[in-house]
Amino acid sequence: MRYISTRGEAPPLGFMDVTLAGLARDGGLYVPESWPQFDRATIAGFAGRPYAELAVEVMRPFTADALADTTLARMAKEAYDTFRHPAVTPLVQVGPNTFVLELFHGPTLAFKDLAMQILARLMDQALAERGARSTIVVATSGDTGGAAVEAFRGAAQSDLFVLYPQGRVSEVQRRMMTTAEADNVHALAIEGTFDDCQAIVKGLFNDHVFRDRVNLSGVNSINFARIVAQIVYYFAAAAALGAPHRKVAFSVPTGNFGDIFAGWVAAKMGLPVDRLSIATNVNDILARTLATGTYQVRDVVATSSPSMDIQVSSNFERLLFEAGGRDPKTVRVAMASLSRAQSFTVGAKALAEMRGLFAADRASEEETAAVIRTVRREAGYLMDPHTAVAYAVAEKEPRDPTVPMIVLSTAHPAKFPDAVEAACGVRPGLPEWLGDLPRREERITVLPADQEAVARTILTHGRAAAGAGAGATA
Ligand SMILES: *Cc1c(COP(=O)(O)O)cnc(C)c1O
Repeated sequence: MRYISTRGEAPPLGFMDVTLAGLARDGGLYVPESWPQFDRATIAGFAGRPYAELAVEVMRPFTADALADTTLARMAKEAYDTFRHPAVTPLVQVGPNTFVLELFHGPTLAFKDLAMQILARLMDQALAERGARSTIVVATSGDTGGAAVEAFRGAAQSDLFVLYPQGRVSEVQRRMMTTAEADNVHALAIEGTFDDCQAIVKGLFNDHVFRDRVNLSGVNSINFARIVAQIVYYFAAAAALGAPHRKVAFSVPTGNFGDIFAGWVAAKMGLPVDRLSIATNVNDILARTLATGTYQVRDVVATSSPSMDIQVSSNFERLLFEAGGRDPKTVRVAMASLSRAQSFTVGAKALAEMRGLFAADRASEEETAAVIRTVRREAGYLMDPHTAVAYAVAEKEPRDPTVPMIVLSTAHPAKFPDAVEAACGVRPGLPEWLGDLPRREERITVLPADQEAVARTILTHGRAAAGAGAGATA
């Protein structure tokens, strides 16, 4: 399988190179040259399979010519053995035909672990094959950072720099980034928003001299390997509820559009999906785009679901590419307009295409808190604010009551204890195995929202610049 850039001006690459590159050199995002298909019998056979086995089945069409099946199987087993639930992504019924898909049983209590645990192993493999070392720079609104730190700490071939918006992540999120006892991971608190962090990372990638000097790699949700890993749980949940004989709907708490894009891919690969609901908090650029056809950046507002406090939703570029008939010129024009005027317009045909599968809506802070309260009272189930946003949107949209609604739960409530307690009066506790997190020692570097300052810190503390091109350590 070869991968092409959404902007059409970077050379096609194989899976391992795409995994190491993250962003394409033309600023675009990689997608496969064509989408693999599963027939109905194959999908029916997914029901009841152990998660790690299913992961191999679903990911294999994307990795087959780059990675031995046995290697992928080992990675999947190791990755999902770090999860604290034997089902890895269990479904919990909370309403007559409403289910919560719990994606938070990994080491950092958020769905990011599902992809990051695989990605770290893929990168290690790719670097070892090339005798290379890399510098990983990642912008995080909170959860990606912890998941990356947990997945990459101690990695021999990589240094990790995590940029998070200072004061805009929860204490649990921050501690998961700042307390790793490993010299190769660095938490950088940026005096700005998530979008500032993301802009700095994009800027570093577009500085080709710097990029090559430190052998830059990205693990943000723009990295296609993460999308591939996220397709798995859409198939797992749908098959458990009767797919392909029965259609299912998903409501997905959305920020950077990585998670829900994986749902689009699952549908593209043959999963009968009735509807994908893009659920946003008041940072509702995607809901506005689907409603009006204009993607218009506004200021970010801090909410109780901080991992979705995002206005520039990077993976939307992939949908734009697909819905626009895979025309890279349309994407280039839109992205040029975005950087010039902070907005672009989606063509009528592409918009109609998007509306065919996607619904989109937002939940206010009041609606989110009310959901946490009501679901706790009526179903005895405690959900985190991100999950509550998706639940609120699932309830708002007109829906076919015979189609199971699967609400993706992207974080454990204990990751956002203040918001949950404020909403329903119950303070969720950390799982026992994380009990010492509040007492671990933190290491943080505070920096202004300035690309040069971040670049200097990376050159000072990273190992790849000195050893760039010098080959692997033993
Ligand atoms: C990252 C994150 C999201 C948003 O996921 P995207 O792939 O960026 O759309 C939602 N909820 C939580 C808890 C997250 O960590």
